[in-house]
Amino acid sequence: MTRHVLVTGAARGIGRAIAEAFVAEGDTVSTIYRGGDLPEGVTGAVADITDTAAVNAAFDELEAQHGRVRVLVANAGITRDGLLMRMTDEDFADVIDVNLTGTFRCVRRAVNSMMRERFGRIVLIGSVVGLMGNPGQVNYSSSKSALVGMARSVTREVGSRGITANVIAPGFITTDMTAELGEDVVKQYESTIPAKRFGATAEVAAAAVYLGSDAAGYVSGAVLPVDGGLGMGH
Ligand code: NDP
Repeated sequence: MTRHVLVTGAARGIGRAIAEAFVAEGDTVSTIYRGGDLPEGVTGAVADITDTAAVNAAFDELEAQHGRVRVLVANAGITRDGLLMRMTDEDFADVIDVNLTGTFRCVRRAVNSMMRERFGRIVLIGSVVGLMGNPGQVNYSSSKSALVGMARSVTREVGSRGITANVIAPGFITTDMTAELGEDVVKQYESTIPAKRFGATAEVAAAAVYLGSDAAGYVSGAVLPVDGGLGMGH
């Protein structure tokens, strides 16, 4: 039987590349998404990850078709950038609700299935910014650094059940999210990245495939940077 891999937000960007990479591995891939075209071979259930009941219903629907989720890649995320003193409560809360609490909702439901299977691979998409900080991203970096604590607590709680939980910390990757950056900002960021370029979505996907693999069973609570050397995991 093929493995059921659920990737949140697989309609575009990094999530799309991750879903495609697992399809190429021969896994059965599904997604919780809000709309748009999905890559070939990916089954979708529409839900917003800020809605607990919708997340649980989407898991139920996808598991009815493909069996229990064995690999969760929690990828869906947003930014609402702004300098601290101008950041509204809403800008802060919205980012936490998607990036942190939304991830929690998916992890909690996935672990329910993984405990029964006595197998699970949880891959959380964090960010280099969660480790290094970034001006204008107090909300976003707070949400992403918290995923490290989440992966490590999940590891300590259910690590004895064949379940691993790790964080990928991508650096600057070419997607819609970074398309919002101006040319000057891109040039400035590139100059500080040892690799001197932004990353490709496929480079993050390759790391997700590894952490989601059966072979990665002894790696848990780790932060794997995919950032061209920018943050080096610190
Ligand atoms: P995109 O903006 O291209 O895609 C974000 C994805 O998340 C979309 O599929 C979006 O769905 C989904 N999403 C957002 N909010 C929700 C929600 N409430 N419920 C369900 N799905 C939602 O971003 P990227 O592909 O660049 O980013 C993917 C992940 O990687 C994010 O967690 C991001 O923080 C992280 N990351 C990105 C980096 C980069 O440089 N690009 C660097 C480091 C981390 P929809 O299409 O409906 O909006």
